[in-house]
Amino acid sequence: MGISQGSLPDGAPEADAAPAPPDADEKHALPGFEAVARLASSALGVPLVALLLADGSAYWYASPGHPGTFALDAALLAACREVARHGSAEVIADAREDARFQPAGTDPVRAEVAFLAAEPVFGLDGQLLGALLAIDRRPRLTLAPGERAALRDAAALAGTGAALRYYVNRIDPATRLPHRNAFFADLAAQLPHETGHAWLVAIEVAPVTRFNAFVRAMGHSYADALMRATAERVQAWMTADMQLYQVGATRLAVLLAGSHDAPTPMRLDALVATLRDPVDCQGVPLTLQPGVGLLRAEAVELRGGDPLRRVMSASHLAQGSANGWSVYDRDQDERQRQEFFLVTELAAALSDRTELELHYQPRVDLASGRCVALEALARWHHPTLGEVSPGAFVPLAEQAGLMRSLTDWVFDCGLAQLAQWLRGGLDLRLSLNVSSIDLDAMLEKRLVAAAQRHGVPLARLELEFTESIAIHHDELNRGVLAALRSAGMGIAIDDFGIGYSNLDALRRMPATGLKIDKSLVRALDTRAHDAAIVRSMAALGRELGFRVVMEGVETARELAAIRDMPCDEVQGNYIARPMPGPAVAGWLHRHAAARAAPATPGC
Ligand code: C2E
Ligand code: MG
Ligand code: MG
Repeated sequence: MGISQGSLPDGAPEADAAPAPPDADEKHALPGFEAVARLASSALGVPLVALLLADGSAYWYASPGHPGTFALDAALLAACREVARHGSAEVIADAREDARFQPAGTDPVRAEVAFLAAEPVFGLDGQLLGALLAIDRRPRLTLAPGERAALRDAAALAGTGAALRYYVNRIDPATRLPHRNAFFADLAAQLPHETGHAWLVAIEVAPVTRFNAFVRAMGHSYADALMRATAERVQAWMTADMQLYQVGATRLAVLLAGSHDAPTPMRLDALVATLRDPVDCQGVPLTLQPGVGLLRAEAVELRGGDPLRRVMSASHLAQGSANGWSVYDRDQDERQRQEFFLVTELAAALSDRTELELHYQPRVDLASGRCVALEALARWHHPTLGEVSPGAFVPLAEQAGLMRSLTDWVFDCGLAQLAQWLRGGLDLRLSLNVSSIDLDAMLEKRLVAAAQRHGVPLARLELEFTESIAIHHDELNRGVLAALRSAGMGIAIDDFGIGYSNLDALRRMPATGLKIDKSLVRALDTRAHDAAIVRSMAALGRELGFRVVMEGVETARELAAIRDMPCDEVQGNYIARPMPGPAVAGWLHRHAAARAAPATPGC
């Protein structure tokens, strides 16, 4: 038999096992123990060597040269631990004569262990970690000086291994704080039964992107110093019955002892305030953007529930909030998880492309009633969730870095369809929605490449940017829009009238069209005041040389009200709902026929 890590040799009971932390296996790796134990066993001529550590773990080595197993039981193990706890070298000539090794209340003296020599094991910082024990079935009076020295050397080596394991499993080398494994082990130890709870506080020190920027600009040692400085602030806030952990590159967690009540809102305010104070790190002053989360972790949820993930989700949400802290909210967490699910599904849909489709909504010239353009609108048919609206998935794509591939797919699919219509003799333009993320120097290249691929003239295309993107972008982006415009493309300002319209910025926009938002169009036929506002917006658009489009026209009354306004085009469900590409030709045909019929109302 060789090494037995963390458990006893055959016939011996396991030490009490606390609920296992996720990385429990790592806890059992003890570098070099087997070699050390083999040396001690052969130098002292003993069949059994044990290393018992203060954190409760035990390592056993039984020499192959000594057949048979030791029948160790829990009481004997407790006695060995008692010896290990003292921190001094000890030789027990015959354990059968030693009161500590007698089981309480019963008679039979253990025949298995007679001789026992213990040597304390110290860590790298000199702290007592436990003891190395050499055990024999036969009593022995003492150890020879050479044997004692060998046991001392073996204990020193075991100490190095144990310290290494201790640090690897518990301590973050950069901040010297206990890390995530230690957090899970301590939490599990605090909640050993199915009942009970513990309060957890999580601290998101700074947004990850911002923290990465610190690292890029100042180096890793600066980031480590920043985390240490933050940890010191948290420690100054903590009371004696709290323990601090570094659970991620930018994240700290505090475990409150079982008896502790939840920290009061005032205490949490104080924590946020101390973290928001500017910090001077290596001479560089910084203001962090911390988020503090609070969770009551229930013992019963410990195994599957991942309390750390949940409390971190609370601290993440708190980062953008005014008070800087939030209590874990299951519904909000569920929404976030759903979003994450959607993002992964959207990424798959973008590479597979079978679930995505473009629909096209006609834009009709108000004067002639002719359909002059179609707006491409993305549709996602999810196999289990059903129709997911672009209002839900476009913002997610923006957040998750998927916007470029979504837009590229829209360009590709939309332009392929437009090319087919043009080849069929239809005289149409296509308008494409573009997100703020797309608005950079590459946009023109991406569009030109797509147009060339499909043989579509750029003059057949129009890009729609929302008002906020169009207006709040800087000179560089205005330059990008100007370049697109001079390449022949139309540029429309979408959803106009619901943002903060800066007229000066609007005047300087290299746009060709202005789409007045449907929420304003909605009120046209009922509220005279709103109608006056829409009328002046449309007049302003015309004045600035834009082609004015009213979107979201739903009723004949709205259309009638618009006819009275300075407006060029209309778009909305009253005229036609967005439809799949193959349905467009049929609709155009019916629409043209309806226009030709003398008594037809509408466009
Ligand atoms: P949008 O660009 O303002 O598009 C018009 C939206 O109004 C579309 O919603 C359209 O279906 C809807 N609509 C049209 N007529 C009516 C009407 O009479 N009544 C009402 N209530 N709604 C009408 P949809 O397709 O759900 O798209 C919502 C938004 O999602 C779009 O607003 C656009 O901002 C964004 N979006 C859609 N497709 C794309 C895309 O391919 N790329 C990007 N970046 N954004 C897209
Ligand atoms: Mg649009
Ligand atoms: Mg719009």
